[in-house]
Amino acid sequence: MRGNFGKIVVFGLIAAMSVPFLMRFSGCFKSQQNTTERVETTPAESIKVDIPDFSVDSAYTYTARQVAFGPRVPNTTAHKACRAWLVKKLKSFGAEVEEQVLSEKHHSGKILNGANIIARFNPGNPRRVMLAAHWDTREAADKDENPAKRKTPADGADDGASGVGILLEIARTFKQKPGNLGLDIVLFDLEDNGKDGDGSGDTESTWCLGSQYWAKNKGNYQARFGILLDMVGAKNATFPKEGYSMHYAPEITGKIWSVAQRLGHSRFFVNETGGAITDDHAYVNQVGIPMVDIINLGPGPAGTFGFYHHTHDDNMNVIDRETMHAVLETVLTVVFSESAAIL
Ligand SMILES: [Zn+2]
Repeated sequence: MRGNFGKIVVFGLIAAMSVPFLMRFSGCFKSQQNTTERVETTPAESIKVDIPDFSVDSAYTYTARQVAFGPRVPNTTAHKACRAWLVKKLKSFGAEVEEQVLSEKHHSGKILNGANIIARFNPGNPRRVMLAAHWDTREAADKDENPAKRKTPADGADDGASGVGILLEIARTFKQKPGNLGLDIVLFDLEDNGKDGDGSGDTESTWCLGSQYWAKNKGNYQARFGILLDMVGAKNATFPKEGYSMHYAPEITGKIWSVAQRLGHSRFFVNETGGAITDDHAYVNQVGIPMVDIINLGPGPAGTFGFYHHTHDDNMNVIDRETMHAVLETVLTVVFSESAAIL
């Protein structure tokens, strides 16, 4: 993805949806690390959100497993092998899995072959939530400080694999404890092979080819809200409230950050507004599903990506279990409060 730092690009179709829910969130949260319940007593009412036991080690391992295939660059063997593994894994967790095959034109003119992987839990339930991440890797680490290494791809441990690792763990917990809602996990392909422009021509549309395809072909699919995870595993990550999320989905953005703060994760989910990023959620928002991007950015409108972004430093060394824990616990709590119809 790339940043539109400091500005909000308003799309042709304004679809700022409002998600009705009451900000009455309080209560106790349960996590695997601490089986005793934390109780917040400030508001008079107390709502319990019972989330399934989850394992950060498992999310970490799923991330490392993707990296072990090699960079998941479209049209490569590693890409193909990882796709097959993701499909198999999601099926083993009880999901109904669709591979949405696509061939899209790269900005160089070559054709990129890929597939969005869509895993549906409780397919008959009309009340749905969508969680997404991209699973492809950029073809070249073109921001690496060493010019000789700029033509080869990085591992993409954080940029891609971490979000998918967390979603696989959520899928695994859903098998143990299916929520009372429909859950769609969408792994977008062809997100990260766009062209970095200087802002003069249209290079925005060269990114996020998988989600653009998905949005054009979504039919009558609808979800109450969506959450996109992108670069969610790095040590000391900060997740300010991303610009498009605030524009299209301010209520659910507020809800997620409020939940994170109540869970004690304000070090990661900083209470600041960040820049607007051309990422998969932009295209999902355009077709009427309010979707929030949780993405590692420096705070403030001019905040930049992590030091490792599109460099060879994006490997397992930057991945940290504490960050993954904060994201996993927050997203599970938001999903299960929707499941309990607390939203
Ligand atoms: Zn990227």
